[in-house]
Amino acid sequence: MRMRGQAQVLVNTPEIELWPGGLLRAHGNRDARAITRARHVLRRKHDGRYLAADLPEGLLPLIPHVMREPGIKDALGALDLQPARARPGIDVVPTLPLHRLEARLERLGINSDAYARRTGLALVAEPAWLSFAGFDRFRRPLWLHVDAARAWRNLRDAALRDGIVLESISGYRSHDYQLGIFERKLTRGQDVEQILTVNAAPGYSEHHAGLALDIGAPGEPPAEESFEDTPAFDWLGRHAGEHGFAMSYPRDNPHGIVYEPWHWRFSR
Ligand SMILES: [Zn+2]
Repeated sequence: MRMRGQAQVLVNTPEIELWPGGLLRAHGNRDARAITRARHVLRRKHDGRYLAADLPEGLLPLIPHVMREPGIKDALGALDLQPARARPGIDVVPTLPLHRLEARLERLGINSDAYARRTGLALVAEPAWLSFAGFDRFRRPLWLHVDAARAWRNLRDAALRDGIVLESISGYRSHDYQLGIFERKLTRGQDVEQILTVNAAPGYSEHHAGLALDIGAPGEPPAEESFEDTPAFDWLGRHAGEHGFAMSYPRDNPHGIVYEPWHWRFSR
């Protein structure tokens, strides 16, 4: 049993995420029991594969040769530090290094300097840990920077008091997740330039910092321009600023990013 008031935290390392037990669904029967009992589950960021379960009696590998897994040392080190990091009230969240990202962008054929110049966007580092901010519309855990998580709860509650239901559609996304989008689209025959008209280059999305989230309204299709015609959007336009949220990509924004009335960023 978790203690009341204890924060649920996703611990982030360059290659591996440490999920709190109980928030992940098992992929198969073999893993199901271990994952249910685990204090943490080590999950490979690139493809979401479960690598090991941190059980009260020790680490249970869920793949062969887990100790040869890239980044396993960092992940096990973070596991040891986890209780200190998870303590609520620690608001200074360190970020992970960016070095690996530049090489991966090059492999996709994206020149990061040229891209940054063209869009005016900067590289966004991932936080070393993220705070559980409830479940999104698809019943997936919503992870946000601890400050944004608190602000989002306040925003949602304030809207509800005015009779407006706000749903979260997507919060924190890793560089790996964004790279995965590019890899899937490339496999389907799109080229990088085409993909960049719709998706920010991996490393340049505000979602990486856990400070931005996509907001929707019940019954509305997610991430569509039609969101601007909803009472939820009207309410956000009037009140989001009071809670530290602003729309990042209004019409004709200087970054050349399509109008995204659903995308809101928290800043302190
Ligand atoms: Zn977004």
